[in-house]
Amino acid sequence: MIDLAIIGGGPAGLTAGLYATRGGLKDVVMYEFGMPGGQITQSSEIENYPGVPKVVTGMELMESWPEQCQRFGLKHEIKEVLNVSKEGDTFKLLFAKDEIVEAKSVLICTGSKPRRAGVEGEDKFFGRGVSTCATCDGFFYKDGEVAVLGGGDTALEEALFLANICSKVYLIHRREEFRAAPSTTEKVLNNPKIELVLNSTVEEIQGDNAGVTGVITKNKDGETRDIKVPGIFVFVGMLPQNKILFDENDKSLCELSKAGQIVVDLKMKTSVPGLFAAGDIRIDAAKQVVCASGDGATAGIGAIEYVND
Ligand code: FAD
Ligand code: NAP
Repeated sequence: MIDLAIIGGGPAGLTAGLYATRGGLKDVVMYEFGMPGGQITQSSEIENYPGVPKVVTGMELMESWPEQCQRFGLKHEIKEVLNVSKEGDTFKLLFAKDEIVEAKSVLICTGSKPRRAGVEGEDKFFGRGVSTCATCDGFFYKDGEVAVLGGGDTALEEALFLANICSKVYLIHRREEFRAAPSTTEKVLNNPKIELVLNSTVEEIQGDNAGVTGVITKNKDGETRDIKVPGIFVFVGMLPQNKILFDENDKSLCELSKAGQIVVDLKMKTSVPGLFAAGDIRIDAAKQVVCASGDGATAGIGAIEYVND
């Protein structure tokens, strides 16, 4: 029986591990199926993490976190948690091959993943011209033209990143106003390589055996446009990663919001004693590295109190 199982190794999970182990919990394991760092490692630049005044990539920002966060005994296991349940006071974590680990307390830090726009051709050409990661795939379109779909911080920031690599970026957004921060919007509006395709939806992503060949858009007047590009980056929001909470009857272990985020109080406690949630997965998250990290610290301290009670 371990003291605390942390599920997810992004900013929230890593920070929780640091606080829980430094605060005295002995047996703390962070389960992360990839490399620690979380979704920010896909970001091309981050300029709003306090104490890091230089603009750095997400990879650069997170590089030193595992070493510091594991210094006090946090263990990292490269495993995917399939399910979490509770019997009496004991949590059970299910892994592949029916492996089960028991824990006194559990912290869910599984974050979120990119949402699909649901347009024709998106799934068919995913990985063959349709991407959700400019840092990963932008270079394939060096000096070429690409499209970006979305109007939030991610879409605009990644459109700016792509404009540094590509000859032209078509930014397709369904409204006139952007959801992104004003400073980011300003940079986009002033970038001569970015053409705005506003009040427009993507009707279809077209392609052939080699991959994407173009995007058909439709504006609010019903006019269609055929934009010939070999790649489209889809940034239409994020989905909370909550599937591990559901049992075979599709019942969640703890209370969720309508959008599927975990309901917590100010101490990151969920509706189930001993179960905590932190970062992007929780209700009303600001979806920022600094906030996820702060949540992780709060939850780590909460777990110490719970286990030692
Ligand atoms: P995540 O970072 O999502 O980490 C969750 C981790 O859990 C992942 O590593 C995942 O592999 C793991 N996981 C999920 N399910 C399981 C499972 N079942 N078993 C094991 N492991 C699991 N924020 C800023 O502050 N500034 C920015 O400039 C900024 N730019 C961004 C740019 C992009 C392109 C994106 C996508 C996000 C950006 N963000 C930015 C938001 C920021 O990345 C998130 O708010 C932050 O990463 C949330 O941290 P987290 O720990 O809650 O979750
Ligand atoms: P977001 O803020 O939810 O924006 C999603 C965008 O996609 C919106 O413009 C939305 O349009 C559009 N959209 C949604 N569904 C669509 C569909 N089916 N077809 C076409 N367009 C669609 O998501 P995000 O940009 O990924 O950001 C997620 C969170 O992370 C936010 O809280 C954001 O602030 C944060 N974040 C912060 C930073 C930063 O601090 N620098 C960077 C990246 C992300 P509407 O506007 O019309 O709804």
